[in-house]
Amino acid sequence: MKVAVIGGGWAGLAAAVDLTAAGAEITLFEAGRVPGGRARSITVAGRRLDNGQHILLGAYRDILDVMRRIGADPEQLFERRPLQVVDAAGFRLALPKWPAPLNVAWALLTAQGVGWREKAATARWMQGVKARGFRLAADATVGQWLDGAGQTGELRRHLWEPLCLAALNLPAARASAQVFANVLRDSLGSRRREDTDLLLPRVDLGRLLPEPASHWLAARGATLRFSTRIEALEATPEHVAVAGERFAAAIIAIAPQHAGKLWPEMTAKYDYEPIATVYLQFAPQFRLPFPLFKQTGKYGQWAVDRGDGLIGCVLSGHGGWEALTDDELAAALQAELPASGPALWHKVIREKRATFACQPGLARPDWRTGDPRVVLAGDHTWTEYPATLEGAVRSGRRAARELLGKRYNPSP
Ligand SMILES: Cc1cc2nc3c(=O)[nH]c(=O)nc-3n(C[C@H](O)[C@H](O)[C@H](O)COP(=O)(O)OP(=O)(O)OC[C@H]3O[C@@H](n4cnc5c(N)ncnc54)[C@H](O)[C@@H]3O)c2cc1C
Repeated sequence: MKVAVIGGGWAGLAAAVDLTAAGAEITLFEAGRVPGGRARSITVAGRRLDNGQHILLGAYRDILDVMRRIGADPEQLFERRPLQVVDAAGFRLALPKWPAPLNVAWALLTAQGVGWREKAATARWMQGVKARGFRLAADATVGQWLDGAGQTGELRRHLWEPLCLAALNLPAARASAQVFANVLRDSLGSRRREDTDLLLPRVDLGRLLPEPASHWLAARGATLRFSTRIEALEATPEHVAVAGERFAAAIIAIAPQHAGKLWPEMTAKYDYEPIATVYLQFAPQFRLPFPLFKQTGKYGQWAVDRGDGLIGCVLSGHGGWEALTDDELAAALQAELPASGPALWHKVIREKRATFACQPGLARPDWRTGDPRVVLAGDHTWTEYPATLEGAVRSGRRAARELLGKRYNPSP
């Protein structure tokens, strides 16, 4: 079967890998010069950086599965750490390396900066949420959900709201509670301890999946066309035509704002949220108290220790930071870090349409189109999750299975 995969982000690459492994003949079309889409490596002043700091969890099982398939060993490429949420205001919640759910229970019990009454109420609430399978009677904002549950104290401020912003790229006041609950179900609520781990990349994003996947595909005869933007897709009764070539089927794995042009049935319209990553280079010996550090100043949200003194500060969603120049933003974030000296170097990368706004009741498109030979993929089509790498990869694998006439189930 000859298949066109349009889009070389993590969704398109995952689809191409699975189809190639099943014996299909793949041509992948990617508008950019390099693979990876919104999660790729870039070179700035001779340094390899990520276009945006990404946070990955042990629950990202399909990513780990694809990585193993293409020979990118997750054990080598990630450092696994039990999740901790630590901030400069004295809050600390640390999961021990114990079986789930004991690890979460212990973390809650021993959380610093939270009173006993609140811990007990939260434990009861989490039990109830779990008992209901993390299903809400109706979607609402995360803020409304937490209000309804009486979650109005320190854990809301130091844990739930920051986690919501990190996972959904939206503040609790606007984010979908059901999608947030899905994320909690598969991470803190999972029966597998490993799912709650943080996966800290030891290499840049390109080396995690996009580049090994591209090499793996090319070595197996797939055709990779970079710097090739597809302007039209024509589905006739005999074939699907892309860039003058004929295919038996096509996967459209591009961001929603572009997909409608290729497939007019794809009419879903989203609002988008930005993300800025502010890289600050300090002296090599500088380290954060924990590799993922919650900032508590006026602008800072999360800071990630990339090693050798390089810190990636993440600013999710619209906010006051957008009005600052790059230099102002770097200076403000630097002042909010526990660093002894000034940064030696900085680089601000702003992604204006980093993610779709994952609001309550958001209408997302059917990944199956009216034509069984054309399937949609991409983070926005994986309705269980907000815009995430894992959602993208799962959507790509699902699209591949559909064309192979097989059912897709996320990796166990
Ligand atoms: C700064 C930032 C931080 C993020 N942080 C996290 C995080 O911490 N954790 C997490 O899980 N997720 C995070 N995300 C979200 C994650 O990156 C995305 O959900 C994921 O990369 C989407 O992959 P995709 O393949 O669905 O889409 P994309 O990455 O958008 O890939 C689509 C590809 O299609 C190409 N394309 C578009 N139009 C055409 C065309 N006409 N012809 C050919 N090619 C075309 C594009 O160039 C692109 O490469 C973040 C995103 C950003 C931007």
